[in-house]
Amino acid sequence: MLQTNLLKSSSRLIFRSVGRNQPLRRFSTKDEKTESNFLQELYGKNEKVENKNATSENVLAPNNPERLYRKVHVAEIARKPLLPGVFCAVLLEKNEKAIKEIVELKKQGAQAYLGVFMKKAEGEAIDPTDPAGHLYEYGTFAQVHTIVAMDTPDSAQLLLLGHRRIRRVSTVSSPQLEVNIEHLKDEPYKMDDALKATNMEIVSTLRELLQLNVLYGEQFRTLLSLTGSIDLHDISRLTDVAANLTSADDSVLQTKVLQQLNVTQRARDVLLLLKKEIELCRLQADIREQVESKIQREQRRLLLMEQLKSIKKELGLEKDDKSALIQRFNEKWSQRSVTAPEEVCRTVSAELEKLSGLETSSPEFNVTRTYLEWLTSLPWGITTPEKFDLDHAKQVLDSDHYGLEDVKERIFEFVAVGQLKGGKGQGKILCLVGPPGVGKTSIGKSIAAALNRKYFRFSVGGLSDVAEIKGHRRTYVGAMPGKVVQCLKSTQSSNPFILIDEIDKLGRGHSGDPASALLELLDPEQNSGFLDHYLDLPLDLSNALFVCTANQLDSIPGPLLDRMEVIRLSGYAADEKRAIARRYLEPAAAAEAGVPTVRGGMEIEGKKEEEKEKEKEMVEKNNTRTAENIVQLTDDALDALINEYCREAGVRNLKKHLDKVYRKAALKLVKQGAKVVDGEKVVGEKVGGVEEDKEKEKEKKTDELLLSSETVTDAPAVEAATPSSSSSSSSSSSATTPTTPTHLEYAGEPLIITQGNLKDFVGYPPFATDHFYESSTPAGVVMGLAWTPMGGATLYVEAARVEDSDSKGLVTTTGQLGDVFRESTQIAMTYARAFLARMKRRRGEEEGRRGGETGREREKRGGGEERRR
Ligand code: ADP
Repeated sequence: MLQTNLLKSSSRLIFRSVGRNQPLRRFSTKDEKTESNFLQELYGKNEKVENKNATSENVLAPNNPERLYRKVHVAEIARKPLLPGVFCAVLLEKNEKAIKEIVELKKQGAQAYLGVFMKKAEGEAIDPTDPAGHLYEYGTFAQVHTIVAMDTPDSAQLLLLGHRRIRRVSTVSSPQLEVNIEHLKDEPYKMDDALKATNMEIVSTLRELLQLNVLYGEQFRTLLSLTGSIDLHDISRLTDVAANLTSADDSVLQTKVLQQLNVTQRARDVLLLLKKEIELCRLQADIREQVESKIQREQRRLLLMEQLKSIKKELGLEKDDKSALIQRFNEKWSQRSVTAPEEVCRTVSAELEKLSGLETSSPEFNVTRTYLEWLTSLPWGITTPEKFDLDHAKQVLDSDHYGLEDVKERIFEFVAVGQLKGGKGQGKILCLVGPPGVGKTSIGKSIAAALNRKYFRFSVGGLSDVAEIKGHRRTYVGAMPGKVVQCLKSTQSSNPFILIDEIDKLGRGHSGDPASALLELLDPEQNSGFLDHYLDLPLDLSNALFVCTANQLDSIPGPLLDRMEVIRLSGYAADEKRAIARRYLEPAAAAEAGVPTVRGGMEIEGKKEEEKEKEKEMVEKNNTRTAENIVQLTDDALDALINEYCREAGVRNLKKHLDKVYRKAALKLVKQGAKVVDGEKVVGEKVGGVEEDKEKEKEKKTDELLLSSETVTDAPAVEAATPSSSSSSSSSSSATTPTTPTHLEYAGEPLIITQGNLKDFVGYPPFATDHFYESSTPAGVVMGLAWTPMGGATLYVEAARVEDSDSKGLVTTTGQLGDVFRESTQIAMTYARAFLARMKRRRGEEEGRRGGETGREREKRGGGEERRR
């Protein structure tokens, strides 16, 4: 801005001084002809440049009187050295003397000159003895074109034109710096072909640069308007002007351009700088293009979207957001409103009306919208048809769980009553209480399936916020309905099966008690009008079936317990565990590990003896193994697993151990060379045409069960491990049973897990055996019973007599004994004392008796002897 002002004023000043100073005429901006000629030349319309102005007449040409200047005032510049033939605005500060002189000269109509030196860059060596040491040694002899006074007399704004290179020789005065200078000339050079070529290349690069970026064009035009023209054949001057256009570093311009007196070298360096500049320009253009195209794309998209919207609106295809939303709610509600209570219908219509009057940007709009979303997506009065079929219920419950007769019986009662009453009014809440892993949670799922109800489970363990059950009030930001409403939404049924897990671990909040909230939910008398805080409308939950699970009764709040029907699941005895393991857990574990299995005790499997014999024969004949006899968990191993590893009441730990056994088995099988073979080819060989298609379909269905024992048991495909036996085995299998699509190929030893090698699969048992003594316990040892979290354990209590003792029969107990045990030892001690005292007395009596007898006997014996004697 400042520079533009200066330029304007300089232009005026130049006009005023026309006639008095000939060379200045060349700077006139009005000299349109020269300028346009030059630009024409530079832009390539006329390569042959003949610049008549590049003579001694030219202001930039060396002027002899100027060479007389040996002492100049110094103008310091902070950046970009002033090159000869180039203009630059400089602020001259704290140099009143220089300013006065310049003004005086200007008044007389003479030219004023200054030495312009750039400050050294940070880190460069400074001569501390020299007041001008902070400046580069080489500078420019510059003509003061314009001077504009500032507020203080010691500072002024100057427009300078660089004339020629100079060198600081010595400092004359400071701080208003004045230095002695030496005028420098370019080293003599010959315009040979190489230099000419460089010159031409500089011109063409310059031309390219001017075309690439308008800014360079502007800069150049300004320069031209001030200097008149530039001789394109004066390579020295051309390099200076070209270098000034680049954005090269100040130090590069200083050292490689200003200080370089070898024109050939300077031309090469400047050409390099110009080329770099071109690259920079191209990069800049690329970036600009990318940004512009991105913006354009975005704008185009927005524009098109707007157009599309208005077209759709015009055609009546789409309404604005709000009316579309209201229409959607209306459509949704028209289906639900049939079964919905009247109160709910009224609320929905009121809310819809409210929504239509609200601004879409208002927060209230969103609150109402979310509320309507909930209201219209709840299954008001919609129920799933219940199945009151005893056989079906039995089949479903038995297929998933062994035993649990109490629970199953209760469900059968429920089914029977439902059948008789037509499924109405059975608002009972069951509570399954038992140790972990006895199937409380998993049976819930089976019950839901047996009754054909939608299943929803949520755990209230550690729950302390009433809002989790009753919901938040709508006034809160981010308010949500409670779990029950969420259940209804997700199941889309008013009669779901809701399993409330861990009811004995219910927390206690600082604001409200979740147990009391559950009371309302679980009370058959009240839950027909359950009020969720968020919905604020009564919900009928009387058709929902609630089942709660708990580990113990003590921690269930009394009023809650009152409303529930408790069914205790006490845990499983060893034989029950065995049955559960064989029927449910083992097949699942084997399938999970991808291991084909024999279900140990063949009786459960129901396999006929002849079938087994047949298979045995086949194995011997073909030297291969059926999937059935590859892995086998023997009964004794299972017993050991139950008695020594998993003694807890439930079967969760047993399940974990079985999983581990089969995972280890899978590892062993793979290590011993077992691999799964895709059976498609085999099947293709065996069957053809329509038959083949049917077979393939069958395969697809069984594909998921690839190696599960079920599939293998139903279709004991004997597959050959060796090519020689493959034909015989495949023909025999295809004749008898359908083949599995893929099968396990394994020719190694069968993996039989016995009690002996069980530790290879599950490590050493954590529980030692109870039997320390073979038959009955010796004297001083009794068997005690202890309570443990696993149920209970037997332990031996041994008493030892201390030989010598002055003590009067003290008993000392060791070990962490409970009160019962301690009391028992006291009782034992008392009994022993009493017993010993009795024995002592009796012995004394006996001895006394025997003493009398012996006296008499002795007497008798003595008399006889005497007689004998
Ligand atoms: P809980 O809820 O009592 O802690 P789960 O229902 O989670 O126990 O049962 C743990 C595992 O034990 C489940 O995999 C389940 O299938 C199995 N399980 C428990 N009891 C039986 C049973 N009677 N018959 C079959 N599997 C059972």
